[in-house]
This record gives sequence, structure tokens and C-alpha cells, in this order.
Amino acid sequence: MRLATVNVSGVARVGLVDGDSVRLLPADAGDMVTLIAHGRAEIEHLAAGPGLEVLPLTSVAVMAPIQRFRRDVLCTGWNYWDHFEEGRGRREGQEVDKPTAPTFFTKGPNTVIGPHDEIGLDPYISVKWDYEAELALVIGKRCRSVSKAEAPDCVFGYFLANDVSQRDLQRRHGGQWLKGKSIDRTMPIGPWIVTPDELDVPEIRLELALNGKVMQSALIKQMAFPVAELIAELSFGMTLEPGDVLITGTPAGVGNARDPQVFLKPGDEMEVSATGLGALRNRVVAANLHGTTDLPSMGPRA
Ligand code: MG
Repeated sequence: MRLATVNVSGVARVGLVDGDSVRLLPADAGDMVTLIAHGRAEIEHLAAGPGLEVLPLTSVAVMAPIQRFRRDVLCTGWNYWDHFEEGRGRREGQEVDKPTAPTFFTKGPNTVIGPHDEIGLDPYISVKWDYEAELALVIGKRCRSVSKAEAPDCVFGYFLANDVSQRDLQRRHGGQWLKGKSIDRTMPIGPWIVTPDELDVPEIRLELALNGKVMQSALIKQMAFPVAELIAELSFGMTLEPGDVLITGTPAGVGNARDPQVFLKPGDEMEVSATGLGALRNRVVAANLHGTTDLPSMGPRA
């Protein structure tokens, strides 16, 4: 099952994607988070109902599949060892030992945009805008302290994310991730949620191309801590709820770790794609996010 949120005449509707068309669920069925909480059987029941509208995908705007967040987006750092290693010596004195358990942090939900939306880049806010292709998942049922064996049953489905990051803001505020990954409208997700039965998750190839050049390419089985282990560790004493989103880390090839370094600029086109999950295509455009602040620019001082 592939579930999308689409804009139909200004209204966000959930539908099942089938090839080049989308079958809209009843308008009063609720949003994606409500439907996920009801479970797959209820969604299948609704989808089999009479009189559902079927539209060509090209006739609607595909939105971020999840529009409502009850908490921050849950995130994983350093979950591919080749990405951990490529960062050595580039963390500006904030070096750490190789982790023995997953690294977690969160980012604000105001980062989330649709799979084809533009990303507004303001060089006043940061001069080190970077990309990160990631596999994302959404939790399907309430869970706490689940075992690794139980964890896969907690996942409703998978999609893609581009965890666009500001490397200078990560370093400036204590070597953390929250502030360097929470700039408004910088994380495209989607294009739709694919249920696990349609995927062979370890064999998914995840890629990011910048202006047509492949910059990141890895198999999900290269993860340092696989999805089941991430959920077991994250839910350890901490309840996860239906609709909670977890992004699972990025592989090697980020711009900050390249020689020479590559940072995003207006006009750049990014494509994140993966086996069975479709693609995110986002253009970077110039934006003013700093308004009338009295803080100085992060750029070179005049
Ligand atoms: Mg990331």
C-alpha cells in the first residue's frame, strides 16, 4: 500500500497511490495520522468503499505525507559508519569515539515540506547548507520498550527525507544538532508512505543526486544500527505513538565531508531516490529568513 497526502482544490486529502493515479479516501476519513492510528485494516476497508474518486497523479500536488506532528521529528545521527568516518577531523574540535549505541536527536516539525517544494536558502542564516538523504519511517502503533523482534511490527511504513543541515549552526551552538537542523521549511519528505510488505528494506538503495551528479549511494543494510534496533533503543522507557516520524541517518557523501567541500546554493537541484520509494525533487532558491534580526550574518564579515 502506498499512501499519499495530495492537495485537491486547496484541501489536503489522503489517497492510495496506484501507478499513475490516486484513489482518494473519503474526505471525512481523517488525516494521515488519524488513518495510521486506525490501522491498515481500516484503511483497506475505506479504500474498498464505493464511489471513491480516482485522479491522475499529475492532476494533484503531492504534499508531505504527514502534515500534523504531535512531537518533534525523531532523528538518528551517525548511522552509517562510512559517514561517521568521513566526518573525522571535520567536527572542529568536537570529535567523539565511535558510538556503541544509536545517536538520537530531534528537529522541529516546521522543517517539513513536500516532496517537490522549493527549499529557501538564506546565506545570512548559514553559509554551510548541506544535504542528507535518509530513509524515514512512521510509527503505526503505540509502543514502549519493545524488543528488536517486536520492533518491525511498530512500523506503519517508510518514505524518504532530505535532512538539509546547516553545519555552521551545528558547531556554533554547542556541537548539537537541533539548531543546525531545524531551519524552517528545509526538510522535504515523501513522496508517499510505502507499507513494509512492498519493500525489502535491507536491500533498498538510497541515493542523492545534486544537479544530476550522484553524491550519496548506499544500501540500507549498511546501517550501523538497523531499524529494529533503532526502535528498540528509542522506545526503551519512552512511548512512541502512531504518527511519530523517525529519520534513520545518512550515508557517506555529504558536502561538508568532501574535498573540496560542497555546500548548497540557490539554483541547485536535489533528488533523493530509493528502491520502491520514489523520489524527492527539490530546487534550492534564495530566501530571506533573517528579517530584522540584530544578530550578525553567519557569512564572512564585511
Ligand atoms: Mg541526518
